Amino acid sequence: MSVFPKILFKREVEDYLCNVYHNKELVASLGLDEVERKFDRLQRCLSHPPSFTTVRVNTLVTSVEAAKQQLSDEIKKQFLGDVIPIHQHPRLNDLLLIPVTGPRRAQKQHSVQVIVGAQCGNAVLRGAHVYAAGILSASKWMKTGDEVSVFSDIEGKCRRGAVEFDGAKVFLGNGIAELSRSDIFCTNSPIKGKGIRMTEPVYSSPSFDNMLPGYIFLQNLPSAVVSHVLSPQPGERVLDMCAAPEGKTTHIASLMNDEGEVIAVDKIANKVEKIKHNASLLQLKCIQAYCFNSTKAVLREPKGLEPGLGPPFCPESFDRILLDAPCSGMGLRPSMACPLSLKELASYQPLQRKLLSTAVELLKPGGTLVYSTCTITLAENEEQVAWALKTFPGLQLEVQEPHIGGEGMPGAGLSSDRLKLLQRFDPSVTEILDVDANKLKSDEDLVAVANSDTIGFFIAKFLKKS
Ligand code: SAM
Repeated sequence: MSVFPKILFKREVEDYLCNVYHNKELVASLGLDEVERKFDRLQRCLSHPPSFTTVRVNTLVTSVEAAKQQLSDEIKKQFLGDVIPIHQHPRLNDLLLIPVTGPRRAQKQHSVQVIVGAQCGNAVLRGAHVYAAGILSASKWMKTGDEVSVFSDIEGKCRRGAVEFDGAKVFLGNGIAELSRSDIFCTNSPIKGKGIRMTEPVYSSPSFDNMLPGYIFLQNLPSAVVSHVLSPQPGERVLDMCAAPEGKTTHIASLMNDEGEVIAVDKIANKVEKIKHNASLLQLKCIQAYCFNSTKAVLREPKGLEPGLGPPFCPESFDRILLDAPCSGMGLRPSMACPLSLKELASYQPLQRKLLSTAVELLKPGGTLVYSTCTITLAENEEQVAWALKTFPGLQLEVQEPHIGGEGMPGAGLSSDRLKLLQRFDPSVTEILDVDANKLKSDEDLVAVANSDTIGFFIAKFLKKS
């Protein structure tokens, strides 16, 4: 039995997704009963965290073994001596798997209650403590040192500073208040820092806040697969079209041994500043970051710009391109409620097509394009592949290495051979909600759960024929 209710969608979005999962091709392939079970499992999985937290090691500055040891020491300190086993992924040699403990059931709830925003609540379920900025409401007499119960306001209805809240909320666990109610709300300037130290979260995972900065990165397993699939080589010129917050940019640079050019573009200026800052912190010299709208990144009339300077770029000037597209993000876990409307959901497909068209123009003949999203719809995934193959006859799908997720989902008219070349991480594939990853016995079971109980994610790899 799952501990949390299914993810809450707006009615129109739930109906839309239900139709996506009941499309004729999928029903013909799996049968109606299995499709219904799958859709039900999907909604339950999305509100729960994956069974493993995954961190990628920056192999340019340390070895995986050394990082594993340091991480183990740090976690032991955090858990007051308790040892949490850390596993190295057998196929992703720079990825470490840390089992999530839980769910902790039937906990006593305290009379002092704290309500946090949905985003803060999702972070708590992945091991974070509660920061003051995420607290919406606290009981009237809450003082420092009180034992408190923490709940997530899943519908976003709690008023900031409220004393009580009767709306839809989900219990996230117990903790100790490090600030009083008046510290949090009776102040003119927003208060920073930890508000509640979580001591008994429903799901427990180490907090990676400021842990081994520069040495390890929190990265979901499918995201860590993407840069390997792109397979960038030292000396190449690689474009990361939608780069922030740059989890994949630094991975690409490290797979290239910091030799060549990695050009990271994002349209949000402060995110680009962070990319620059992190690249210099990590001493990655091959990364150049630019703030630019990537839909306009093709230089229409060359005006004597030196290659290697910022966007717009000459057509056919990149060996490899990653388009980790802006998307509806409906594969992200845990997520108790999805705030998107149908109109917002529909806005991503045209933007992704503009970005895909730009990518095809910028890619050298013989070059590689990887398209990825962290969402689960056909419209942003398989339909985009079908559209790209039809619109750009020079593109062909390529085998992905590693291929750890499942194949593409039927429903967009792609042949079964083409679906096999796509990689879809579909959290609804197995009944995993009750697995405590710490209790998995064999390495095979452990890796099988880590590979399937992930966020929802999609990867397509194209070759532009010469
Ligand atoms: N690749 C990133 C990583 O691994 O950390 C995540 C990318 S996130 C899915 C999408 C990014 O696309 C956002 O940072 C957003 O600011 C950026 N974006 C959206 N529209 C864009 C555009 N037209 N041009 C450039 N960047 C864009």
